Parts: sequence; structure tokens; C-alpha cells
Amino acid sequence: MDCIFCKIVSGEIPSSKIYEDEKVLAFLDINPANKGHCIVIPKEHYENIFDISDDALKEIIAAVKKTASAVNKAANCDGINILQNNNKAAGQLVSHIHFHIIPRFENDEVNFSYKPGKYLEGEINEMREKILVNITGN
Ligand SMILES: [Zn+2]
Repeated sequence: MDCIFCKIVSGEIPSSKIYEDEKVLAFLDINPANKGHCIVIPKEHYENIFDISDDALKEIIAAVKKTASAVNKAANCDGINILQNNNKAAGQLVSHIHFHIIPRFENDEVNFSYKPGKYLEGEINEMREKILVNITGN
């Protein structure tokens, strides 16, 4: 499979690793939003949030917490964004699920802004109903 993150896991492509265990790898993004920007991935290839198993996700999110705590201290930042994009329209550039850990500073130039929208009368309930019928038990 021609996946850049699978190649990082295998070592075919080098990376600045900062955390690794049996299931998870974290490394510095070479094109950081701010210095200290890290990527956390499962070693196994899953495309996105829709196809990863709950167990694998739990392992990743625990590593995200561990990594974010270390980055927070190391970068001496004012905040941290944890970002996980699914599919191209949402900005997912590599089709191997990953979490971005982005250190933030007061008045930095990183921007994830959006213009808050509004629901017309009844729309929020319609949307709620559509989501409710798709919520699967856990
Ligand atoms: Zn992959």
C-alpha cells in the first residue's frame, strides 16, 4: 500500500519519533503549524474515524493525551489544539487516521476559524432526529 504513514511505521521513511508502543506511533510533523506540532497514528492502517475499531481508538487517544501533555510542557505554549480530519473535504491529506497535536500561542497565526451559522425554525430538531436514528448502541 502506498501510504506515507505506513512507511513511517515500517521505517522506510524516517521520522522524528517522540512516542512509540506496540500499537501507536507519535512523531513531529515536518511542516508544523507551530513548532512542536506532532502527529499520532495507529501502527495498523485505518483510513479514518469510520473504520477504526473502538479498541484501537482508545489506544490512540491515550497516546494523544500522553503526547499532548509532553508537548504542552516542551513547547511552553498557551494552549493545544487536537485535530482529527476525516476525508478530503475536511482537510484529511493522508488516508491513514491521525491526530494532530498543535501547540498554540496567544496571537499566533494559526487559524481554524469559521463563521457560526444558524438553524432555521425546526431545522435543529430535524437534524437531531436524523442523527438519533443513526446512533449505534455501544
Ligand atoms: Zn497507512
